Amino acid sequence: MRGYNVMFPQGWDCHGLPTEVKVEETHGITKNDVSRDVFRQMCHDLTIQNIEKMRATMRRCGFSIDWSNEYVTMLPEYYRKTQISFLRMLKSGDIYQSEHPVNFCTRCETAIAFAEVTYDDRTTLLNFFDFDGVEIATSRPELLAACVAVAVHPDDERYAGTAGKTLKVPLFGYSVPVITDGAVDPEFGSGAVMICTFGDKQDVHWWKQHQLDLRKAINTSGRMTSIAGPYEGLTTKECRERILADMKEQGILNRQENLEQRVGACWRCKTPIEILSERQWFVKIHNEGIIKAAKEIKWMPDHMYSRLENWASQMEWDWCISRQRVFATPIPVWFCDGCGATVLPDETDLPVDPTAVTPKNACPVCGGTSFTGEKDVLDTWMDSSISVLNVTGWDGGDIPERFPAQIRPQGHDIIRTWAFYTILRSLALTGSKPWDEILVNGMVLGEDGFKMSKSRGNIIPPEDILKDYGADAFRQWSAIGAATGSDIVFSWNDVVAGSRFQTKLWNIARFVLMQAGDSGDFTEDSVTVLADKWLMCRLSATVAEVTGAMESYQFDRAIRGIREFSRDIFADNYIELVKGRLYEDEGPARDSALYTLRAALATICRMFAPITPFFSEECFSYLNEGSVHAAGWPDLSFVDMDAARNGALLVEVVSEVRRFKHDNGMALNAPLGQVVVYANEGIEDAGDASRALNAKVSWTTEKPHLEQVVSDVNFSMGIIGPALRNKARGFMDAVRALPEADLRNGVSHVTVDGEEVAVPEGAFEPVYVYRVAGATVDVLTLKEGVIVTVLRIA
Ligand SMILES: [Zn+2]
Ligand SMILES: [Zn+2]
Repeated sequence: MRGYNVMFPQGWDCHGLPTEVKVEETHGITKNDVSRDVFRQMCHDLTIQNIEKMRATMRRCGFSIDWSNEYVTMLPEYYRKTQISFLRMLKSGDIYQSEHPVNFCTRCETAIAFAEVTYDDRTTLLNFFDFDGVEIATSRPELLAACVAVAVHPDDERYAGTAGKTLKVPLFGYSVPVITDGAVDPEFGSGAVMICTFGDKQDVHWWKQHQLDLRKAINTSGRMTSIAGPYEGLTTKECRERILADMKEQGILNRQENLEQRVGACWRCKTPIEILSERQWFVKIHNEGIIKAAKEIKWMPDHMYSRLENWASQMEWDWCISRQRVFATPIPVWFCDGCGATVLPDETDLPVDPTAVTPKNACPVCGGTSFTGEKDVLDTWMDSSISVLNVTGWDGGDIPERFPAQIRPQGHDIIRTWAFYTILRSLALTGSKPWDEILVNGMVLGEDGFKMSKSRGNIIPPEDILKDYGADAFRQWSAIGAATGSDIVFSWNDVVAGSRFQTKLWNIARFVLMQAGDSGDFTEDSVTVLADKWLMCRLSATVAEVTGAMESYQFDRAIRGIREFSRDIFADNYIELVKGRLYEDEGPARDSALYTLRAALATICRMFAPITPFFSEECFSYLNEGSVHAAGWPDLSFVDMDAARNGALLVEVVSEVRRFKHDNGMALNAPLGQVVVYANEGIEDAGDASRALNAKVSWTTEKPHLEQVVSDVNFSMGIIGPALRNKARGFMDAVRALPEADLRNGVSHVTVDGEEVAVPEGAFEPVYVYRVAGATVDVLTLKEGVIVTVLRIA
């Protein structure tokens, strides 16, 4: 609508653990129960089904997606590019293979990245036991077989002189060295710490720093290995129970205390992660470059940038990209069975599944012809982190002209992953930031304010809303529900309000079309009457406000601007004001209103089109100006300061007199006599006020000559009754008979039946009326000293 040729692609990020877990659940299997091909096919089929459902919902919702640029990451044409990007980064040294401790989910049986670890608080037991004469406290006794050292603080006098000595590991009997390290907390437990490979990140740190042995006690399925001796084959939980029981039996378990702990778990299945050292593939993380590129990107809202920065600056380990799973892009690598060399395919031969095919040529190192394909597959973020390269046309060749893209829309929940990895990969593959701007949206919460989840039962499928209220009311809720970037609570009330607003706007449109449907030939020059000029000014101001809101992605402000103008200004004020002119007048004054009505409706439709595409298109179609979505964004600058000011006064006068009618129990169309507006400027309203109020309205710059007279007396019976008893009636007659000056000023006594009676405090009040030229009028006081006198018809 603003003249740009926009490509809004739709992609489907398919690969990954959630799909595999769902397939395992649905079919009641694990990935090892069927062949890789069969399992992959099951995942593929489930994904296709889900894409079809989501695609239908998105179309129904009216998303303006360019479906010709749809991409599906599990299809060969896409993952070929993922494999090219892998080979490029492998050759440039940004990807390497190494045995290094990684986060590992033993239920999913795969390594995972830090971004996939979620943290939960839990209470566990801290066990104090005798470790060859030194007391050790640990929450993970099952890791005893993985103990490689005992560490104490260098200044801890309790352990002075123990550094360099060895201690025998209880139950297992092998010896480990005692080392000192400033990072040991002497206050925790006994001040002596058992270092295992690996209990946590700190163990990894110590293990590297002190070049300790590696003892793998837990395998990738979460069972104890042979170094656990008699505990081999047990799960970690079973092993912990057995070891504690054995310690008790040997009398070395001193005591147990509760311990509050933060535990890392697999984001998908919530199993506590282990840190296992296995051969994995890694992407190098260059934190500083990523932060520098992130700063060159415009973040909306801008505070979202700090989430990226915080994450990037705390990354200590490289990104582990290999997964021991099935449904993902294969890592395009073979290993020579003869010499162990890594053998790569030609880019022209991609995509390849190295577990299904062999290299075309013999091993370049030893000439061997027997190879083993890499079984590990890639983290799904390796696919989606090149989505921007894919949509801008990258194919491994030159950097596309359209790169970087203008904008990335995404949720705040994937700043650490999609945004972070995309910046990383774009820098590695092109040397440039991936986009100019990133627009970060919040998450939709259930009506109860909590994240939607099956267990809470607060999920509302979009199809339910679409069925009852249609896409546009649904879209109005999402636009108005929260500021951009904030989480948005789902609200049926907001959807209903959206639907009602459409009904209101439809009624307005029908009125406008009935009156002005054929008046498309008029130009802005037809606007000659005050009320019309005023409306055009307000319409211009609304266009400016809505345009500004849209440009800064403040959709809630945009929709509020549209609603207020349509409902409060256009319908409630303007249309009520000009109805009479439309019905009674002919000629230029009527044409002025016709042009204005039509212009306002067309402009509302255009502004509303991005939010309510179906409704706006339907409304706009009756104006015979083509599709609203092909029409330009309104560009209106109707400026008339006098009309803006005087029109506002006209509207205020009409609404105040209407309020006066209502307050006095009169029908809104009830006739009045003369209404005089005493204002600072003379106003020519072409008779709009007279027709709207069913009165003869005149405007004057003269000062009103108002005469205040006492017309009646209000008595307070609650005071008079008890004070005067049987004299009350006579008292009231006497008061009514007083001269006007006494009624205004008050008197201390009145004469009742020849007797002086004191007037009780607050017994009566005079009632005043105003007169102009002898006629009694009602007086309304408006803003800025404007006075309106109303003559009622008897
Ligand atoms: Zn898991
Ligand atoms: Zn070889």
